[in-house]
Amino acid sequence: MRNLFNGGTDTLLMKIIVHGGAWAIPDDAVEDHLKGVTRAVKRGLEEKNAFDAVEAAINTMEDDPTFDAGYGSFLNQNGEIELDAIMAENSRFGAVAGVNRIKNPISLAKKILADNEVNFIIGRGAEEYAEKNGISLCDSKELILERELKRWKKIKKENKKPREFFHDTVGAVALDKYRTIVAGTSTGGTPNKIPGRVGDTPLFGAGCYADSSVGASATGYGESIMRVLLTRTVADLYKKMELKQACKEALSALKDIGGYGGVITLDVKGNFGYSFNTPRMACAFNEGNKIKFFV
Ligand code: ASP
Repeated sequence: MRNLFNGGTDTLLMKIIVHGGAWAIPDDAVEDHLKGVTRAVKRGLEEKNAFDAVEAAINTMEDDPTFDAGYGSFLNQNGEIELDAIMAENSRFGAVAGVNRIKNPISLAKKILADNEVNFIIGRGAEEYAEKNGISLCDSKELILERELKRWKKIKKENKKPREFFHDTVGAVALDKYRTIVAGTSTGGTPNKIPGRVGDTPLFGAGCYADSSVGASATGYGESIMRVLLTRTVADLYKKMELKQACKEALSALKDIGGYGGVITLDVKGNFGYSFNTPRMACAFNEGNKIKFFV
């Protein structure tokens, strides 16, 4: 059988790239980010298809309090968790927003994508949909980490917007032996966000995109990312140039409107691309069985 990725004859391998946020990740948090993204790639590689690989990789990071997704997410102004997630494949997507009793929102997004009836479900309706489909609900307090409660109380006490920009959203893009490209993104949004605020993450073409030739996942300042439809812009540019260049140019469109963040991509030929205009981005991907990473 022909190897999709190098024209060889050996076993077909999954390709996967993940990110764990783009921002000024402090030195003392680098190690945890590296471990988190590496673990996510490893988990993804254990799966047999791109849907399961993206879900497994993102679940790993949703369960890891290092990241702003699932357990340990930032709290909104009311001190509550509100999670958004999306999974996309071949110009289709499943998305959820504003859920706070789902431990792994990417798994619910995957279910919505698989059911192919509607694209996007929010809040209580999304949680009802989860329950009806065997995804159990948790107490939202189980997702709240002491560290985040402290952060929230400090912000309240100081009574001003947080000065640092934290962008610890997680994402993954995988390509399997069936040439299926799946992308996913999951987030708790920004710290102290207005209740009900939804960023770029669950918006198809903004925080996540996949068609039959390329997939992409974004992180960063959601208000700008959605204005330039960052991940869709990468896909459009990719029709005219190499993937790496497409990522660079899409990021420069983001910068032009004063936005910042990062994007990861993978095309059907197995090429990876990424770009960011923040001091750091946590990222890992595989080359065969080897995992490469950087923060
Ligand atoms: N883009 C996300 C949002 O604005 C935040 C992040 O990337 O961490 O909700």
